Amino acid sequence: MSKTTNSVPGLLQRPLRLFNSMGRALEQFQPIISGFVRLYSCGLTVYNYAHIGNLRAYLFTDTLRRALQFKGYEVLHVMNITDVGHMTSDQDEGEDKMELASAKAEKSPWELSEFYTQEFRKDLHRLNIMPPSVWCKATDHIVEMLDFAKVLEDRGYTYLLDSGLYFDTSKVKDYGRLALIDGKDLQVGARIEAIPGKRHPADFAVWRRSPPGKKRLMEWDSPWGPGAPGWHLECSVMSLKYLGRHFDIHTGGVDHRQVHHVNEIAQNQGFLNSDSSGVNVWMHNEFLMFEEEKMSKSTGHFLRLESLIERGFHPLSYRYFTLQASYRKQLQFSMSSLGAAQTGLHRMLRGVAQLREKAGHQDWYRAVEETRFSRGGNFRLVRHRLEEGLPPDFNLADTLDEALSEDLNTPRALALLSSLLSDTAMPAAAVLRNVALFDLALGLNLLSTAPEELLVQEEPGIPVTDIEKLMAERKSARQNRDYRRADEIRQELLKAGIQLKDTPEGTTWERVAKPPSGDGK
Ligand SMILES: [Zn+2]
Repeated sequence: MSKTTNSVPGLLQRPLRLFNSMGRALEQFQPIISGFVRLYSCGLTVYNYAHIGNLRAYLFTDTLRRALQFKGYEVLHVMNITDVGHMTSDQDEGEDKMELASAKAEKSPWELSEFYTQEFRKDLHRLNIMPPSVWCKATDHIVEMLDFAKVLEDRGYTYLLDSGLYFDTSKVKDYGRLALIDGKDLQVGARIEAIPGKRHPADFAVWRRSPPGKKRLMEWDSPWGPGAPGWHLECSVMSLKYLGRHFDIHTGGVDHRQVHHVNEIAQNQGFLNSDSSGVNVWMHNEFLMFEEEKMSKSTGHFLRLESLIERGFHPLSYRYFTLQASYRKQLQFSMSSLGAAQTGLHRMLRGVAQLREKAGHQDWYRAVEETRFSRGGNFRLVRHRLEEGLPPDFNLADTLDEALSEDLNTPRALALLSSLLSDTAMPAAAVLRNVALFDLALGLNLLSTAPEELLVQEEPGIPVTDIEKLMAERKSARQNRDYRRADEIRQELLKAGIQLKDTPEGTTWERVAKPPSGDGK
């Protein structure tokens, strides 16, 4: 470990703890290759636009990646695009989502997937999500998938039916351990009778043979007849190709924990001839909920990023909204809670604009440079400066590191950012340089977004700037042990309908109903 001269002991050397779905426990992260992390994320099935629930998964992955880079790791990030093989049910039943959508749209699956892939990338860009190091799509890897399936067959992990080549889940050890289900009494909605000859409900297609006399829109020749790959095959194959037989982290939505990743693991075990899943840490983000239901294309709750923009929301307000909760918690979505997030982000942007005026051109420029050098995933300059010795104006780096190290505690990081922005004791230039650090870690682009870019309806009542002024005054009163003045300010704000809440991370405020005035008017 390199020696540092930081004045804060252990700065940025704190271990990163991540929640591993395999075993369901917080674990200290240890990369396989020192200083280098290999990360795979299941991407979108491009038969439609991404809905904002899908996008939560990529915001989570981006936060993970930023945290890894913040902690000094180099990250090789691979994300796939599913353009074939994903059936309308996760259990091989129904029809291929691509083919179905293609018939509806009267466009070829190829045109469709190209269109929705571009739209998906546009959404990621608007949310300030860093593009992966490698994009890969299923249909570009048919040859590798055939080779992989052949190995599974040669080793006796599969059996052939009229409808295709199936993986025999009884052949691998601990099938279903990721989902906490025992393979033997697995009943997760998979119906054995739906596919004649299937030996076990959990068995799944590795290759789906086209029915006799029927030509699929997307099909390829194979040793098992013309057809298309099973959905799970692509991720085993592409992660192996780009990241090797054993890599660090695999991410996806929590639904993948039940079927898709369980089957990827079974295939990896067969291919590697090992009990290992091939991955050290499996991480899953929880659902975005909409009126108590998970947001999904099938339930009809379908909101795109574009639909939010049309309603006057800034894409970064959605990013801010998701950061308010741990990625492992279900998050209730409503327009009013997104509105509150937009107000919160706007408040921060206005705070930065005021600091910019206070600090002057040179300091502002320095802070912006800090993030510019690091754009595109290169956080090294900032790391280097921190390791050289802690500049006094980066004094929040350590507390930010502490929050991120605890399984990506973004609510805490946001609270720290908020109290940083209301800190009147710290010189403006120092606050800005700390904001630069937060921009790297949270991706909110506070230094490159103007408050005017957000449409926020000014709330009636006392203006936010006055609230902030009074809060700052109260803070310094408390620091000077002038509790009488501090309490006066609290009462004054309450009369104006503003309730203060003191938390370990700082003071927050919210608008409440004004108490009735005592003079009877
Ligand atoms: Zn996948």
